[in-house]
This record gives sequence, C-alpha cells and structure tokens, in this order.
Amino acid sequence: TEDSMVGSNTPSLDSALMDAKPLAVALFGGTFDPIHVGHLRMALELRQALGVNEVRLVPCHQPPHRGLPLRTSQQRAEMLTLAVSECDGLSTDLRELDRDGPSYSIDTVIEVRQEVGAATPLMLAMGMDSFIHFPSWYRSEEFLQYTHLVVMTRPGYGLTSHLNTDLSSLLNKQMTQQEMQSCPCGGVLIVQQTPLPISATQIREALQTGSSVQYLVPDVVRQYIQQNQLYR
Ligand code: ATP
Repeated sequence: TEDSMVGSNTPSLDSALMDAKPLAVALFGGTFDPIHVGHLRMALELRQALGVNEVRLVPCHQPPHRGLPLRTSQQRAEMLTLAVSECDGLSTDLRELDRDGPSYSIDTVIEVRQEVGAATPLMLAMGMDSFIHFPSWYRSEEFLQYTHLVVMTRPGYGLTSHLNTDLSSLLNKQMTQQEMQSCPCGGVLIVQQTPLPISATQIREALQTGSSVQYLVPDVVRQYIQQNQLYR
C-alpha cells in the first residue's frame, strides 16, 4: 500500500527522537603518569554504564593536589593519545596543557559546559580515591551547577571511613543513569566497576626496578616508554 511505502522511506520515530536528544559527554581527568589499563578499563566501563557517546580523557598539566608528575605533560599526552587510539569512543582533551598554573578541574568543566551548550548532559568521572577528597577541591561546591559527578569504585578505597557532612550532602544528590541522561547537571552516580588494583605508582616503581609492565599498560604505551627510556 501507499502507507507502507511512505513508512519505509521515513525515519522511525525512535531514530528521530535519538537524533533530537542532546549528546552526553563524559570527562575523565587524571595525571596519567603513565596511563594504564585501570584507567582504560574505567573509561570503557564508564562509557557503557552511562551510555554516553564520548569519554574524553583530560590530562592535567600541574595537579593542584600532588607533586609534579615525573614525565612532562607532552609525554603523558602522547602516551594517552596512543592508548585511546585503540578504543572507539575514547578521545583526549588536551586543553589543560595550554593553561599555566595549577590545572583546576572547575575551569575545564566551565569551558566544556560553554562548548556543549546548556542542555547537554555532562559528566565528570573520577575514581573513589579522588571522590573522598573531592570536597577539598578548588571551588568544589560549584561543580554540580555545570556537571554531574560519576564515581567509579576502586579496590582499597571505600567511602565509609571518610564520610563527612560534605560527602554526605553530595551522596544525597544521587541519581540513576537514566535521570542523568535526561538532565544536564546536578547529580551524583556511583558505578561499580571491575576491580583492578593497578596504579601508576606501581607501574613507575616496576619500571624503576627494571620489572616488566606488560599487560599493565597497553603495548603501544610500553613501547613508547621503552623507546623514550622513561621512568628509569
Ligand atoms: P598514581 O598512582 O600516580 O597516584 P593513579 O593510578 O591513581 O596514579 P591518576 O592519573 O592519578 O592515576 O588517576 C586518574 C583517575 O583515575 C583518578 O580519578 C583515579 O581515581 C582513577 N583511577 C586510576 N586507577 C584506577 C583504578 N585502577 N581503578 C579505578 N579508578 C582508577
């Protein structure tokens, strides 16, 4: 019939709705000194758990809360770029490397919010070890005006021994993944991820003592570390 011919040429209502929905973006900041499979698995599971189109890994230039990274920003960014090139849906965002002074996440979040527009759901992801110190971050009370917070579990780091009023009030803002997708900012979500007790500290120590880091970092990163004789 004519009706069915029209139907077959018209996009379905579902795909029309999908097109209309603002694309969600997740940011995942870190020192990445170096990037390891704990980070990459976290980024991938984040993308799956949130159903976002894009997870951007954001290396910091000068971490406000710790000593200077061992490797230069340029080298950490190069390792990151090599690592994410192997995984669909992951990308790098190198904007913090262009800013002088301490890399404050609030500046990044405000900039990205301006770029994606007011309606797009924006998520800032961090591991549990970062979240328990989050209330002491620079202008921490402003983040939820611009973004959601997504906390990924990490072996060895629990909430219970760190609970204080600031963390509790953040936990009162918990939302489901569906709720996060349907509003631009303001929620907190804790995601249970595959436990991988891997840290960049452990990898730097292994390299300093000449131990192998195979299967702890992607092979492209391992080769880069070898070629550039990093972390000796
Ligand atoms: P370091 O050992 O040098 O402190 P790190 O391995 O913790 O480094 P960062 O670059 O400091 O790596 O971490 C960036 C983000 O990734 C942080 O929010 C941290 O909580 C999270 N993260 C890192 N490794 C893991 C892991 N194995 N599981 C869950 N989250 C992780």
